[in-house]
Amino acid sequence: MLWAQHMRACGLWIAGGHWSAQERRILARAAERIAQAFGGPENMRWALGGVLLLRRTRGGGGAMAFWPRPPWMCVLIGEALLHQQPEWLGEVAIVHELAHIWDARTANLLCRILGRPGRIVREMVRFVQDEPGPTWYGSGIREVVRIPCPACEEWAESVAAYLYPEYIVHLTSRPQEREWPLRAGKPDHLRPALGPRHRAYVERCFAEIRHIA
Ligand SMILES: [Zn+2]
Repeated sequence: MLWAQHMRACGLWIAGGHWSAQERRILARAAERIAQAFGGPENMRWALGGVLLLRRTRGGGGAMAFWPRPPWMCVLIGEALLHQQPEWLGEVAIVHELAHIWDARTANLLCRILGRPGRIVREMVRFVQDEPGPTWYGSGIREVVRIPCPACEEWAESVAAYLYPEYIVHLTSRPQEREWPLRAGKPDHLRPALGPRHRAYVERCFAEIRHIA
């Protein structure tokens, strides 16, 4: 109960049946790390609004910017995403989805329904210019498959890489992370890495919340 109350203080409404002790720990750590960057749980709640966190046994993760019930936004998080090795990769998955929600809060209702980016992502695209995002999933995936909003993934991965530098270190062992810049025609970029423009932009967004909230 205490755990759920603590999560609610950060703006996270917990649902989806029983969360194991390990899952509660993963979520609490993710919330703590992002809340600290926002300048505290109240600021986090202010930036994200209320978010329903729905644990599900099947499927991956997803941020629903338009949800038909209060609190009107939802993060779906599959068991497989929560349980990864090393354990903190589950935390990375959660902050990735919360970054989508943060951007969705800066979009109008029509954009939310259509899955279009909000102000945060649109301004990021202008700010970072041609610097690639930190990871294959954030920037390289568009070379392989069409995803609805590549810039949205670039933003979510930038927030994840900013909060979890160990995520970038972990990814260096994956061949796809080393290879995609070449395929994307950017052989000079050392990847995976959070580039200076992406880092500065994420930092600025967190600082904005700390000053406004
Ligand atoms: Zn995503």
